[in-house]
Amino acid sequence: MKVYKFGGASVKDAEGVKNVAMVLETQGFEKCLLVVSAMGKTTNALEKVVEYYFKKQNYQDEIETIKQNHIEIAKGLFEDNHAVFGEISLFFDDIDSFLRRNKSPNYNFVYDQVVSCGEMISSKILSEYLNDIQFFNHWLDARDYIKTDSTYREGGVKWQETEHNISKLDKINCYVTQGFIGSDDNNFTVTLGREGSDYTAAIFAYCLNADEMTIWKDVPGVMTGDPRKFENVELLSNISYEEAIEMAYYGASVIHPKTLQPLKQKNIPFFVKSFVEPKKPGTKVGNSEENELLESYILKENQTLLNVETRDFSFIAEDHMSLIFGLLAKYKIKVSLVQNSAISLALCLEDKFGNANDFNEELQQSFITQLTKNVSLFTVRNVNLDTLDQFYKDKKVLLEQISKKTFQMVTL
Ligand code: ADP
Ligand code: ASP
Ligand code: MG
Repeated sequence: MKVYKFGGASVKDAEGVKNVAMVLETQGFEKCLLVVSAMGKTTNALEKVVEYYFKKQNYQDEIETIKQNHIEIAKGLFEDNHAVFGEISLFFDDIDSFLRRNKSPNYNFVYDQVVSCGEMISSKILSEYLNDIQFFNHWLDARDYIKTDSTYREGGVKWQETEHNISKLDKINCYVTQGFIGSDDNNFTVTLGREGSDYTAAIFAYCLNADEMTIWKDVPGVMTGDPRKFENVELLSNISYEEAIEMAYYGASVIHPKTLQPLKQKNIPFFVKSFVEPKKPGTKVGNSEENELLESYILKENQTLLNVETRDFSFIAEDHMSLIFGLLAKYKIKVSLVQNSAISLALCLEDKFGNANDFNEELQQSFITQLTKNVSLFTVRNVNLDTLDQFYKDKKVLLEQISKKTFQMVTL
């Protein structure tokens, strides 16, 4: 089977949905599972609904705007009396009645129940549209297949159960399902983390023992830098799973970092291609001997730099490290770079859930700390050490590090 993932950018409007059919035409639509994200910026808009709900502000208008956006898109795809219009309305009625009845004060739980609707609706629209134009497919509720723990907003996949569920799918059919979501033991929706649809595709690919997986993007493939941020970038035609995972880990947002591991485990060939020019080869990720080690640039913004020093001039030792990393886990803060010296430790952090201040406060009970928000982590893979100077121009460098052929700097 082939697994394809279409992200938000590829289905942002009616033309985008029609373009998915065009892509499928060029590839052949058989024995195929399609994973689709929420349309355009729907997830951001649904996040706002949850935020307003908890702030006791008017969230209903937000819901109405999102609903009208989807109805407009559907008008460009279906006849006026199509059943899909009723189904779209029902999803929005469900969000509204869930929020009216909800008693849970758990922000992350409520977030997952509401924000997941973006994928439910987009997958319904895409599935119905493809069926109408004779690309016959079954719509699947991904939550019946991907089982997770109850870590809302960052579900941990229960692989055995998930593999068991997915292995029951008949591999001669075509399917359309949602990215980004699974469910816990109580069948509550759990999301897999922002931008998690690539990961969903990899989970299905792994459990189906897929022949290949492709994610369709608005760029020609994985490039030597994000074309929105860097000039003169080139396409990487062949890279290894290792190179791709390093790039994704450091922040090359074209691939969600969790995507690579399941694919590598089963050696599933993985492609990143353009949904605008689907016949072009794009990037192949695999066990490639032709791994292109071109100098590549990755900029991860909105990071936080933390400096920790002992109060009594003692060395930063294992017990200190254990305390610091224990707190990081408690506050769900990820570490993207570590540098230590005798009495101080510097960490570049990714604070997805806005917990840095609470974390810092608790840390200050034991250490002297300094927190600098809104820094950037700039990484150069396969760096040419002879031309390092160019990277220092116009930058206020707070920290730098070179390991093997990776150069990193934290800048303000
Ligand atoms: P999706 O529609 O699947 O959610 P994303 O927007 O998450 O797609 O990913 C595509 C974007 O990733 C591109 O528009 C580009 O700006 C960005 N990007 C970041 N790093 C790279 C890179 N190294 N090569 C190509 N694109 C990159
Ligand atoms: N819709 C989700 C998000 O925007 C998941 C995804 O697009 O991958 O984060
Ligand atoms: Mg995305």
